Amino acid sequence: MQNFAYLIGDATARECLVVDPAWQPDLILDQAKKDEMRITGILVTHTHYDHVNGVESLLQATDAKVYVNKEETAFLKSSRADSTGIFINISAPNLASVSGGDKIKVGNVAIEFIHTPGHTPGSQCFLVNNHLVSGDTLFIGYCGRCDLPGGNPDQMYESLTQKLAKLGDDVLLYPGHNYSEVPVNRLGDEKKTNPYLMARSAKEFYRVVAGLLD
Ligand SMILES: [Zn+2]
Repeated sequence: MQNFAYLIGDATARECLVVDPAWQPDLILDQAKKDEMRITGILVTHTHYDHVNGVESLLQATDAKVYVNKEETAFLKSSRADSTGIFINISAPNLASVSGGDKIKVGNVAIEFIHTPGHTPGSQCFLVNNHLVSGDTLFIGYCGRCDLPGGNPDQMYESLTQKLAKLGDDVLLYPGHNYSEVPVNRLGDEKKTNPYLMARSAKEFYRVVAGLLD
C-alpha cells in the first residue's frame, strides 16, 4: 500500500493532528510522543479503508476529534473495510462533519479544507500555509482513480483544474501514497509535468485517465 500518514502540529502549543491513520497506529502514537505532541484531532482525506483503518486504535489512545467531509460522515460511522474485515466504529461525539472552505486551527496553525470530489464524493485536501496534503486526489505524477464506487471523472477534472491547479506554484504537495521517486514535490512542477493536472479539457482528461493507480 505504501500510504503516507502525516502529523501537523504547533511546536509551541504542543498539539498535533494526524492525517489518515491507517497502518501502524503504534508508530504514529510513538512519533507524537517523541515529538512531545498531544494528538487532538484526526483529518480524514476520504474513507477508503487504507486511509482510516487506524482511526479506531487512535481513538482508544486519545480523545481526538475526527474531521470528515460531510459527504462521507455517515459512511465512517458504520463502515466495514471490504478486504480486511476490520470494522470501523466511531462514536458520534468525536465526529466533525466539515465542508470545503471550512478552517480549523491546531494551536496557532490554520488548516483549510478543500473539497475535491472525484476519487470519492467526500475526498478533501488540507492546505496548511503552503503545504497541501492531497490524499488520493493528486499524487506526484498521477491523480487518484475515478472508476471505483463513488468515483467520478467529471468531478475529478473539476477538482484538479478548478481547485488544486489554482493554488500557487510554491505550494508543496504531500500525497496519500508513495507512488513516485520523491515523497514531496512543488505544485509548480506538477503543473508542468503531471498529465492529469495539465489536461486542458475534460475530453483530454478522459484520454489520460485510463489505467490509474488507486
Ligand atoms: Zn482511496
